[in-house]
Amino acid sequence: MTELRSDQHQAIYFYEGLDVCSQMHIEEFESVLDGFVPLVDYLSRLIHCAYSVINADLSLESVVFFTLRFDATGRPDLHWNTPIRQLARQAGYPMKSYPSIRVCCYSSCSISWHQQNLWQPEVEHLESLQRAVERNTLKFGTLNNHRVATREIPTLNIETQDSPGEPEKTSSRLLITDDEDTQLPASARMQSLLQGQKAQMLELERKCSMLTEKLSQTQDNIELRLKGRVQVLRKKLELKWIEIVRLREVELLKSRKVLHDTQEKLNERESLLENGMGQGLIHREIEGAVISIQHHGFATVIIEAQNVAAYIKEPQQFVANKLGVDPMVFSHWHNHYNLPCCVNLSKTGTTCGISINRVDKLLDFIPGQSDRCDQHKNISTIAESMG
Ligand SMILES: [Zn+2]
Repeated sequence: MTELRSDQHQAIYFYEGLDVCSQMHIEEFESVLDGFVPLVDYLSRLIHCAYSVINADLSLESVVFFTLRFDATGRPDLHWNTPIRQLARQAGYPMKSYPSIRVCCYSSCSISWHQQNLWQPEVEHLESLQRAVERNTLKFGTLNNHRVATREIPTLNIETQDSPGEPEKTSSRLLITDDEDTQLPASARMQSLLQGQKAQMLELERKCSMLTEKLSQTQDNIELRLKGRVQVLRKKLELKWIEIVRLREVELLKSRKVLHDTQEKLNERESLLENGMGQGLIHREIEGAVISIQHHGFATVIIEAQNVAAYIKEPQQFVANKLGVDPMVFSHWHNHYNLPCCVNLSKTGTTCGISINRVDKLLDFIPGQSDRCDQHKNISTIAESMG
């Protein structure tokens, strides 16, 4: 990167075809960019321009070939922001015909968003540029009025009293004064006008800065409010989450209770099946907690939930009581039902064991008769029977 030396000059040259058609100092170009000085020659046109850094001996140091679009009022594109000074500092030596001039143009720029605002010059463009610089229309290196005006800013006085000779004029007007020369050249008057407009710009920038500060404060407030809102929402979310966890725990406890109850019922079923009374009986659950016992030999017996334990402990006695039958009679009938044979015992303690017809119904069963063979029927006691 090469910084601008104090004896170097900057200027903008405008092209019409291969030739330079007009030129201006960089300060004037900045005013054009600010929109203060519309260029009526360039209404609604895309102009090929060259930003040039010129040495004290009027040789070209560096050139940036850029384009600039003007609108229908002669003001340049508001969004134009090609960094011509920076591109000039970074320029290389792509033009073989001009190996000592650093040039930035369409083909030599590697940054695409800058490249689209650059153009590709021919050798003739550089030739005409060099001629224009050498003609020195802008009077570089000489004491010209423009540069005096640029360096020594004339003071601006607001005259509030009417001049005696000009009573018809407005009571307040701008007057440009210079101690050395009251007859300022046109370029100096323009420069002074530009200075006034720049002062207005500075005031606008100050206001813009204040507004930016306000905006920043507003953004801070919004951020604070948002943070507060986020905290409230986070708290709500936490509470909701805690509620959900609590509900899940309650559901889990319920599920465990159901599991426990189911396990207990299974255990009860197993007990019933292991128990002798369970054999040949059909157990059914009624509404989850009540068991019914169904058997061909007697009416269905319902066991309420609270009586299940009693049933398991003494099943035959429980059923007998439920049916209103002597537990001994029930026991004999049940044995007979499962194994219908003569149960007569001889004095020696042996059982007769002859198969007999089964009495299916409990109520039809008569102990001592229904469970005896014809030979041993009607023997009132075991002691009387003969083996
Ligand atoms: Zn017998």
